[in-house]
Amino acid sequence: MAQIIKLKDKDTDFLEKIMELSGEQITLCEQCGTCSAGCPFVSEMDINPSQIMRLVMLGQESVMDSKTMWICASCFTCTVRCPRKLDLSKVSEALRQVTLRGAIDEIDIKEISDEEALKLPTIAVVGSFRKFTG
Ligand code: SF4
Ligand code: SF4
Repeated sequence: MAQIIKLKDKDTDFLEKIMELSGEQITLCEQCGTCSAGCPFVSEMDINPSQIMRLVMLGQESVMDSKTMWICASCFTCTVRCPRKLDLSKVSEALRQVTLRGAIDEIDIKEISDEEALKLPTIAVVGSFRKFTG
């Protein structure tokens, strides 16, 4: 059933913050779904990329509860296919930044055992800490 969403000032503030951080004109999204259809990681996402765009457009901060922005691998498949030339990887990055600015780290270094630390590729560890910690 369709849900009616009435935008409030705080919703517009959230949209503007994500547009400023990402540098993407999110309101240009025409909801064609091409990004979701071609995303190689969509099966792992709880909200697909085009839905993320719509929720941000509507200023719905509940989008921050989704794991999609953490799954996005910035592979640019969606970007090269988007008819509006929107870069969803930058939107994902902006959403991650907002979360991490709240000092919420997605990785706790103390939970990585010495054995795991020895097995993990250094570049993967460094990349993960850049992506998942504030
Ligand atoms: S491909 Fe582009 S225009 Fe289409 S839904 Fe995705 S972001 Fe929006
Ligand atoms: S950049 Fe992110 S959202 Fe876009 S296709 Fe790649 S994984 Fe999916």
